[in-house]
Formats: sequence, structure tokens, C-alpha cells
Amino acid sequence: STTSGEKGLRELISKAAMAVPAVHEAWLYYEYGPAKEVLKLEEIAVPEVKPDQVLVKVKAAAINPVDYKRRTGYVTLNSPFPIVPGYDCAGVVVKVGDAASKFKVGDEVYGMTSESPVAHPKQWGTLAPYTACEDKFLALKPKNLSFEEAASLPLAILTATEGLQKAGCEAGKTVLVLGGAGGVGTHVIQVAKHVLKAAHVTATGSAHKTDFLKSLGADEVIDYHTVDYTEKPERYDIIYDTVGEGPTKGLKVMKDGGVLVSIATRDPTYRHVVAASSEVLEMLNPYLDNGAIKAIIDPKGKFKFSEVLQAFEYLETGRATGKVVIAPI
Ligand code: NDP
Repeated sequence: STTSGEKGLRELISKAAMAVPAVHEAWLYYEYGPAKEVLKLEEIAVPEVKPDQVLVKVKAAAINPVDYKRRTGYVTLNSPFPIVPGYDCAGVVVKVGDAASKFKVGDEVYGMTSESPVAHPKQWGTLAPYTACEDKFLALKPKNLSFEEAASLPLAILTATEGLQKAGCEAGKTVLVLGGAGGVGTHVIQVAKHVLKAAHVTATGSAHKTDFLKSLGADEVIDYHTVDYTEKPERYDIIYDTVGEGPTKGLKVMKDGGVLVSIATRDPTYRHVVAASSEVLEMLNPYLDNGAIKAIIDPKGKFKFSEVLQAFEYLETGRATGKVVIAPI
């Protein structure tokens, strides 16, 4: 009958969608070192899916400084070799674990796939055609964003948003962002201004990035090459340091009762560390969908999957504006 025919067709389509190879070609390393020496594209098994996980066909990934800090052994690690790097991805759910109920096969998702990039890094990251991730760390991809735009976001925008929330950013507050043009800084500006409604946002950056930083929502841009912000009269409720210059300078321009958060310090008093959270991404999704917050991909920052070495070389200059993404995968 037509009904059983339709049912059979539907089953066939859903099985086709779930067809996953046993092996895939992933970027990985067996020892710490420079990308050119240790990072290789090799065939390995597609990760197994634990009950609380889904398997994602990665369509795009992003790289972050923590990827090279981990690869060079700079940050403390508890992950065995080989390591497939990459924390950020956007892609399509192709398999669902027995206890994972949040998504179905075919859903388009994005997220940071490790609970914490340093304390709890996954062995099998996102620079691979497939990656397994707990469904609680993933959110539905904002519909108006491409896979590469979505992949550029999670780690950086979570770091920005969670740090601002921790610092008590809300309407009326004034914020100084040290390093406004980086992967994290571009989102600190946007989230402070457009989501948490800060009254005034100042960012440091190079002079040629001034117009760009203002387009994100910065009210003032200080060229850190020529101006020492501590010599200006302004005082801030929140200093968000993405550069890791240490608290000495920042504290000089903090209002009484203000807060300094730093993401690139080892000093536990000021350190803020990102945590995977689908709730935060879901809170941000409407702002991403309506364009209030934009995914910022460096104009030279899109690399093919075969160009991961060049992508790291570029990110490791420390000069990228916004994010470096790998697509398509
Ligand atoms: P990026 O590589 O994207 O930062 C590059 C940007 O930093 C460039 O646009 C550059 O602009 C700007 N920059 C560099 N030096 C200065 C300076 N002295 N003053 C102002 N701007 C400067 O890095 P991310 O934003 O992704 O990360 C920043 C740091 O935070 C890294 O050390 C990273 O490891 C850390 N981090 C920590 C996290 C945590 O959970 N603790 C999470 C995420 C990141 P220009 O070209 O104008 O110099």
C-alpha cells in the first residue's frame, strides 16, 4: 500500500542520513610541538558515541589560541595522544546516543564540544569530518548564519559573555575591553553593548581597526600603540582583559567597586575560564539571528580543511581580527 511504501521510503531516507563511515581523515598530533612538525592529516576511527552524546558531521570548525597553547604543551593537560585539536564546530547531527534526547538526526547544531578546553579537553576534537559531543553542550544553529559563521562563535562568544556576566555587566555599566579586535574581544564589545546594554564601551586596538571596532558597538577606541589608557581620566566599572597584560595597569583605571576579569592570566584572583554552555548560546541565538551580534571572521581567516597548517600559522601571529575558521569540512 501507499502508506507502507511511504514508511519504507522514510526509513530508507533516515538510514541514509545516518550512514557514517568507520574511519575518517582527521588532523592530529602524537607529541607537543610546532604545527608544521607535529600536526598531520591521518585516517583514524570515527569517534564512538556515548549515551549522552550525538555524532556531528562537522561542516565548519574554528581554531583558538588554546589549540596552539595545548599543542605546544603551554597549558596543563590531561588528554592522551593522539589529539585531534579543535573545540568549535557547526554541523549536522548524524547519530544520537541512547540517552541523548535533545536533537534528532538532521538537526543543524553548533557549540564548543569540550566542557572546558584546558581542564577537560576532549581527545577527539573538531578538526575532523565527525566529532562526538554531549548534547547538553550543543545548541541549534541560528538559522540565518552559515555553518562557518556559526563555527566561529562558540568558544569566543561564550568566553566573552560568561566573563561579562561574572563581572556583573548590566545596563548603565562602563566597560574597557583590552584587545577589542581579537576572537574574544570582538564579542566582548558586541555582547556588552547590544545584549547586556552597557552604557559605554571603550576598546583598545590598533588605529587601523578603529572604524571596525566602532561598527561593533565600541563608543571609543584607544590605539594601544600610541596611547597609554592609564594616563586618560576615564574610570570603568568593568575591565575585560583579553590580552593578558596583568592587573597592575587595569586596576589603575577601575572604579571603586569595579571588577577586572582577565582570560589570559594565570593569576586566579582575576582569571576567568570559559565553560561549555548551550544555555548561553541559546540566549544569544535571537541576537545572532536578527543581526544584532555578528559572527566576525577575519577577512584572511577562512581556510580549507587541507590548509589547517596555514590557518594556525596565521592565528599564531596574534594579529587576527575576529576568528580563523576552517571550512568546508
Ligand atoms: P586572538 O588571537 O584572536 O587575538 C588577536 C587580537 O589581539 C588581534 O586583533 C590584536 O589586534 C589584538 N591584540 C594583541 N595584542 C594587543 C594589545 N596589547 N592591545 C590590544 N589588542 C591587542 O585571541 P583571542 O581573542 O581568541 O584570545 C585572547 C587570549 O585569551 C588568548 O591568550 C587566549 O588563549 C585567551 N583565552 C582564554 C580563554 C579562557 O577561558 N581563559 C578563552 C578564550 C581565549 P592588533 O592587530 O591591533 O594588535
